[in-house]
Amino acid sequence: MRIFKFGGASVKDAEGVRNLFKIVEKSLDQPLVVVVSAMGKTTNALELLARKAYNKDDWSDDLQKLKAYHQGICADLFSDLPEDIQNWFLQLEGTLQNPGKNWLLYYDQIIPFGELISTSIVYHYMITQTSGEWLDARSCIKTNSFFTEANVDWELTSHFISRDLPELLQNGPVITQGFIGSDLTGKNTTLGREGSDFSGAIFAYCLKAESLTVWKDVPGLLNADPKKFKGAELFDELSYQEVTELTFYGAKVIHPKTIRPLAQRGIPLYVKSFIDPSGQGT
Ligand code: ASP
Ligand code: MG
Repeated sequence: MRIFKFGGASVKDAEGVRNLFKIVEKSLDQPLVVVVSAMGKTTNALELLARKAYNKDDWSDDLQKLKAYHQGICADLFSDLPEDIQNWFLQLEGTLQNPGKNWLLYYDQIIPFGELISTSIVYHYMITQTSGEWLDARSCIKTNSFFTEANVDWELTSHFISRDLPELLQNGPVITQGFIGSDLTGKNTTLGREGSDFSGAIFAYCLKAESLTVWKDVPGLLNADPKKFKGAELFDELSYQEVTELTFYGAKVIHPKTIRPLAQRGIPLYVKSFIDPSGQGT
């Protein structure tokens, strides 16, 4: 069994969703869990929406823009807008209308819609092409109530993942959300910005996966930011310790929490390009 993780940049438009499927399609010889982030810059847009709603500023135009962006992607992929996606937007709107008094709690009730919507779109596209399942990660990834930076309850999470995933995986690739979970009372939680890599590692750890592959817009792990340095070079291979040091010194390429669960089980991490999927990567 393998785990793939696709970030927001890889699914920023309909072409990205089709490309994701092309990559997934080549790996259907084994059970596959596909962890997906919110599309493009959706999480930033949701942060702004949450902030406006909390401050009682007008957010209706911002919501309209976010809806139009996703509707555009859907229009390109399907003939009509799938009902669950319409429902996510209705739920989002309802939540925006009722900001509570606790900002961090409120933030975590809004932000997960990005991932819920993106994975629903990916799932609907997937089942026009092959079989597959959609999993609400909040039913498996259990955390404490430290909203916006929640800590994983490994025992419970492991229990739910090993209880639910094997059966789902028999029906094809399982599409699920990165970055989100829920606390013991069932409230949404998030694992910290850019936390979807970590979600990939959580699934890999709990399922004792063969590997975790993170699909990125760079050829692999590089010794410098290619957007800033022309001569950035690709690492063929690094130890868990070396990657941890890289992330510690600020390399943005992998979420720092990702490495530990993988290292504990000796699960390899592949960093590959979704633009050039046959490239060697790191
Ligand atoms: N969508 C979330 C973020 O942008 C999580 C992620 O992309 O990993 O922070
Ligand atoms: Mg993101």
